[in-house]
Amino acid sequence: MNGDCLFCKISEGSIPSEKIYESETLFAINDINPQAPTHILIIPRAHHSSLLDVEETDHELMGSIITVANKLALEQGLDKSGYRLVVNCGEGAGQSVFHIHYHILGGRPLKWPPG
Ligand code: AMP
Ligand code: ZN
Repeated sequence: MNGDCLFCKISEGSIPSEKIYESETLFAINDINPQAPTHILIIPRAHHSSLLDVEETDHELMGSIITVANKLALEQGLDKSGYRLVVNCGEGAGQSVFHIHYHILGGRPLKWPPG
């Protein structure tokens, strides 16, 4: 837990937020500023500032994000239309909250490469 971190505070509930998925190690919320009809954030509870902080001991946790992403994408009906799972790592890549999180985006055509 990092006392100054928005997602740590949402994880432990000191900032209220509707969690659409919750486990001991992960939770998911709808993005406050959605960039697509479905825009969900999957957030590990443990504080890692960015992908650069991920270590081998985190591999099981990071792998489980894919299972949760698929479950949420299916719930949102994105299995046929497709969805994007993306992490912004560092300011230059657009990261604005420095607690690791995966974006699920879907529900509209998604162009490649992203801007
Ligand atoms: P990134 O720019 O990749 O670090 O993504 C951070 C995301 O967090 C952005 O898409 C924001 O819209 C989103 N965000 C910021 N504050 C909140 C919040 N309180 N609840 C939900 N999403 C948030
Ligand atoms: Zn944090």
